[in-house]
Amino acid sequence: MAPTTCIRNAACIVAWDVTNRCHAYLMDGDVAFAGDTLSFVGRQYDGPADTTIDGTNLMVMPGLVDLHSHPSTEPFFRGVREEHGVPAMYMSGLYERSVALQPDAAARKAGKQVAFCEMLLSGITSVADLSGIDEGWIDIAAQSGLRVFLAPSYASARWHLENGWALKYRWDEAAGRRGLDAALALIEAAATHSSGRLSGIVSPAQIDTCTTDLLRDSFAAAETRNVPLTVHCAQSVNEFLVMVDRHGKSPVQFARELGILSPRTVLGHALFIDEHSWVRWHTRTDLGILVDSGANVAHCPSPFARYGHTLEDFGRYRRAGVNLGIGTDVAPHNVIEEMRLAAILARVAARDITTTSVGDLFHAATVGGAQALTREDLGRLVAGAKADVVLVDLGNTWMRPARDPLRSLVFTAADRAVRTVFVHGVKVMDQGQVLTMDHAAALAEVAEGQQRMLRDAPSRDWAGRSAEEISPLSLPVLGNAPPM
Ligand SMILES: [Zn+2]
Repeated sequence: MAPTTCIRNAACIVAWDVTNRCHAYLMDGDVAFAGDTLSFVGRQYDGPADTTIDGTNLMVMPGLVDLHSHPSTEPFFRGVREEHGVPAMYMSGLYERSVALQPDAAARKAGKQVAFCEMLLSGITSVADLSGIDEGWIDIAAQSGLRVFLAPSYASARWHLENGWALKYRWDEAAGRRGLDAALALIEAAATHSSGRLSGIVSPAQIDTCTTDLLRDSFAAAETRNVPLTVHCAQSVNEFLVMVDRHGKSPVQFARELGILSPRTVLGHALFIDEHSWVRWHTRTDLGILVDSGANVAHCPSPFARYGHTLEDFGRYRRAGVNLGIGTDVAPHNVIEEMRLAAILARVAARDITTTSVGDLFHAATVGGAQALTREDLGRLVAGAKADVVLVDLGNTWMRPARDPLRSLVFTAADRAVRTVFVHGVKVMDQGQVLTMDHAAALAEVAEGQQRMLRDAPSRDWAGRSAEEISPLSLPVLGNAPPM
């Protein structure tokens, strides 16, 4: 018999209502799990328990699903990318940064660990990790304690800049082919890993950097293996214009024509669809294409909002029938804060408070992500689902008064009230401490890796600029000469 843990007399449980297929508050109840599986969610658990947790001042909720992240690289951009953008590229800093600022291979392991620590500290239990194939990836993912969907990314082309406005491409189709083969081998290795927490996603990197054949073959490979496929699509105005230049249609229309949209497809970020106010394309078909195909959208508000972009809008997509999940895409890896930003931006874009709610966002951040990952056993507290459980401290200063605990969590407390995290029935974070990784040591390595990345910028940047020129500090430094 697997050991059983019972959280008894929980003040509040975010329970899964099977009949109505939605989350609902269950006040004063018990949650029990045996091994990696939930065995009871209800009023009173009468079975045996090896470990009992007093739930009188806790909210018990399902672990959050981070549907889109880049753990190998994003921790290195703290203090670098938050205010970096290129006005002549419709504000996006994506291309300039990708070319000029990249952490080296030696640093990326620590980057992953820092990102994974941030996830556990903020209640994320499942993550789609979109990265190049880093050495030791499977071991790092297994050690983290997280449920990791490894999405080894590959492409037929790399972005390239010769000036500060035009997006160019350097094609190497053979590299894309080799990337797909290596990715499929890694996906197979993840699926058979003894932890039972790892699996894979087929991940052609971007709709604009992969040949049509590579995209089609990637989709076929995902179908054959019955795993999801994810691709960046409709993520910038530049990309939209490139797709119009090549094909005369929007990125979403092109993806539909290729036949790569289905319920197993996850688009990051499907923000610049044909009706978006920044592109003003002549058609109005993209939202309907997303609905009809069943394709999912990984919504990651932070990176876009920092440029001045937003999805228009989360509530509109949801009402149309698009399944949305929430991703981080940047540091911090904090889905709770992304939920807050998504709710606010949706209302600003719609000029309507009723367009969406915390309930909608919480659904997206749990079962929405799980659906996109084709996993009915994640993102919900119900007997038979995986024991991915988060305990939130209702006594935390930032939660009180905890009249509506999810609202307190999303609009105020965020990770500060996340007390304990179980993944696969194992306690992996408790009282602000990650139990599976050395967070401090990884942060020290990331700081050193960031220094190397900044030092190397002039040799990579199209204009030979220093990192300080590309992304100046937010304040002048006393004693230094003012910029000319
Ligand atoms: Zn991304």
